[in-house]
Amino acid sequence: MSARIFCIGRNYVEHIRELGHPEDGDCVVFMKPASCLVPVGTQILLPTGRGAVHHEAELVVRIGQPGHHVPAESASALIDALGLGLDLTLRDEQTRLRQAGKPWELAKAFDHAAPLGPLRPWDGSIALNAIAFTCHVNGELRQRGETAHMLFSVERIISILSRTWALQPGDLIYTGTPAGVGPLVPGDRVRLGCDVLESAEWMTGTNDALQKIG
Ligand code: ZN
Repeated sequence: MSARIFCIGRNYVEHIRELGHPEDGDCVVFMKPASCLVPVGTQILLPTGRGAVHHEAELVVRIGQPGHHVPAESASALIDALGLGLDLTLRDEQTRLRQAGKPWELAKAFDHAAPLGPLRPWDGSIALNAIAFTCHVNGELRQRGETAHMLFSVERIISILSRTWALQPGDLIYTGTPAGVGPLVPGDRVRLGCDVLESAEWMTGTNDALQKIG
């Protein structure tokens, strides 16, 4: 089976500690096709003429064991690797679609919309709730995230997803982005960094095939 890419939205509370955990039904889940991945060593090709393309730096979890209806307490057993990735978003288009009550795919699922850095095998020695990561664009710090600030923990995300999908080896989960999202333009150098995971770096170019529609 080729990779399925699950993404979690609105998973970091900024500045204010949440007062209580929301119900699992409030967890925002969407998907991207495998064509959102970027081949290793190539540029991220950005859509043109469709408004701002925002970087969302995220911890990415790869599933290594099948699991269905997995309790959060045992969900970490399904993980086989961790890395960093980008949930690229056509922000203006997403806002327009959301206001119109339409699905987000046009803004979230375009080709190259999920660049993924190198994955590091996970054996449990890195605490899932204590991973800090950064996103720099052209050397400027744009995002700094700590998984301790996630509204839905990695284990809880896996549990929630496993109630709707029988999770399979190779499935990827982008776990949401912290504050600081902002635009990328062609020619940018974007770097994701972390003390305990592999860093990732890409140059951006243009994909003129992804033109404005309608
Ligand atoms: Zn995201």
